[in-house]
Amino acid sequence: MTTERRDELAANLERVHRRIDSAREQAGRHDAISLIVVTKFFPAADVELLAELGVRDIGENRDQEAGPKVGALSRRDELTVHFIGQLQTNKARSVAAYADVVQSVDRPKLARALSRAATEAGRTLDILLQVGLDDAEGRGGVRPGDLDDLAEVVSAEPGLRLRGVMAVAPLGVDPDPAFARLKEVADALRERHPQARWISAGMSGDLEAAVRHGATHLRVGTAILGTRPSLG
Ligand SMILES: *Cc1c(COP(=O)(O)O)cnc(C)c1O
Repeated sequence: MTTERRDELAANLERVHRRIDSAREQAGRHDAISLIVVTKFFPAADVELLAELGVRDIGENRDQEAGPKVGALSRRDELTVHFIGQLQTNKARSVAAYADVVQSVDRPKLARALSRAATEAGRTLDILLQVGLDDAEGRGGVRPGDLDDLAEVVSAEPGLRLRGVMAVAPLGVDPDPAFARLKEVADALRERHPQARWISAGMSGDLEAAVRHGATHLRVGTAILGTRPSLG
């Protein structure tokens, strides 16, 4: 069973790496692109297999699932854990204890809570600002017009390191314009904060478009782990 799963994950990983390589080639890019494997809904055993297969970055989006899962990993030290989900301020303390990167910071209050928690835990968190690329409410993300103020808060708070931006393309439309907009926003941010170079964009269905528009980090779940069980 484990051998079968390992083979399946290895084949899927290889396919995704090939997609990234060919997208990179078509875009004429020579810089590094990090693959974050999104392991939400899948067990710690899968994460261990992925680590054996050379995966170094994993993504989780629900605190109640991610905390125990990350705690159970025997290969924890080899992995960088990215928290990519919407985050309530009262979960900041929990997430700050196990995440290395929080990609979904979209308001000052959350940034301050993460800063307090990280400082108390003696940790430093890499932070991405989640940008809202559509007007739909409820999916999270700071509006581009409010990004500068949020960036100032994050860069002033102890225990946080501003690294760049993250976005999810709007559902059901061509992702290219959204990722192009994200690139503009990222370039503007970088003028004021030169160390904020990361652009986290692109998932199983749209990673090629994200690579075309300068993504430095891709977050891929389904194409590697398979279809997630539904929340029911
Ligand atoms: C689940 C998730 C992903 C991965 O999506 P797939 O379509 O399974 O590749 C990427 N980003 C975020 C924020 C997610 O919640």
